[in-house]
Amino acid sequence: MDPKFEHSKNVIKECLDRYDKVAVACSFGKDSMVVVHLAISIQPDIPIFTIMTPLKPKETFEYKDKMIELWNLNITEYRAKKDVPDGLWKTLPDECCRILKVEPTREAVKDLDAWVTGLRCTEGRTRTEYQEWELKGGLMKVNPVLYWTEADTWRYIAVNQIPVHPWYAEGYRSIGCAPCSTPGGENERDGRWKGTSKCGGECGIHTQQLK
Ligand code: SF4
Repeated sequence: MDPKFEHSKNVIKECLDRYDKVAVACSFGKDSMVVVHLAISIQPDIPIFTIMTPLKPKETFEYKDKMIELWNLNITEYRAKKDVPDGLWKTLPDECCRILKVEPTREAVKDLDAWVTGLRCTEGRTRTEYQEWELKGGLMKVNPVLYWTEADTWRYIAVNQIPVHPWYAEGYRSIGCAPCSTPGGENERDGRWKGTSKCGGECGIHTQQLK
């Protein structure tokens, strides 16, 4: 196995050795699928969680269902307990993300010791300062593919013949909710929240203390 891939697998193994209650976060984006693929190669029934919002593209829901069946994933889906007003994503995107993404993530991690993510430090301006192991409050966040490039991710996907979200074929490099994702961009996350002060930014799950 490629040393970079092997290293990431070893990070997940170490996390499983060190902590009892571990889950993998999965957005069904390309980096999540790499991390899930690595994790289930170690422990096929490893707990996985996903945060779904009503504003995610229908293709994300379809792809999610397809991959859950294909890989027989042990997954729990979390959603916000309340709706957001129409257009909140445009007027107050941080508040929209807080309600639809951050609070459900808080719920997903509340009983965990550690969570494993697909965060990578070359994705954009907001992701350069992360560490592979980050202890925030009572929760360890582990980023096993942190030092991968976008090309590494596509290489792993090609080698392992992993099906991907159909929007990548349309030029998207980072996929979130439909109104806040656009194709292209100089950096991978430039298409997120384009035209707002949050452009290329974060929903908050990686920046806030969750527990
Ligand atoms: S990505 Fe956009 S639509 Fe989704 S929760 Fe955040 S602001 Fe709302």
